[in-house]
Amino acid sequence: MRMECLLCRESGGEVVWQDESCRVVLVEGRDGDDYPGYCRVIWGAHVPEMSDLDLHDRRHLMAVVFATEAALRALAAPNKVNLASLGNQVPHLHWHVIPRWRDDRTFPGAIWAAPAREAVPRRTPAPEDLRRAIARAIAEEQGGTLA
Ligand SMILES: [Zn+2]
Repeated sequence: MRMECLLCRESGGEVVWQDESCRVVLVEGRDGDDYPGYCRVIWGAHVPEMSDLDLHDRRHLMAVVFATEAALRALAAPNKVNLASLGNQVPHLHWHVIPRWRDDRTFPGAIWAAPAREAVPRRTPAPEDLRRAIARAIAEEQGGTLA
C-alpha cells in the first residue's frame, strides 16, 4: 500500500466485483458517460507490471479481464471491446476494458485520442447485473472455482 498511489488509496470507481486479489470497478465521470460500461480491473497489491506477478496471478488477472469483457458484451452489446494496460500515469497494475461503438466519441481511435464527434447517450449496465455476469463468466472459464 502506497499512500501516494491513487489506486492504493481509492477504489477507482464503483466496485462491481472483487475477490482477495483484484477488483473490477465501473468507471465514473465523463469516461463512464461516453463509454457506458467501461470497467477497470485493478490488481490489489501495488505492482507496476504484469511480469511482477507469478504465473498463477497473471492467469487469474487475465481470467477476470476476459470475464469482464464477456460480461460487457452480454450486457452492453458493443461493436468492439478494447483491452489496454498502460499505467503511465498511475503505475499500479490495472486493465481497461472499454466497450466501443462505431459512433462513440473517438472511434476508431483509442478513447484517449482527440474526439471525432459528440458521444451518443447509451444506458450504463447496472452494477448488480455486471457483478452477476462477471461472476458467471469466471465460473464458466474456471469451472466454478472462482465464482
Ligand atoms: Zn498502488
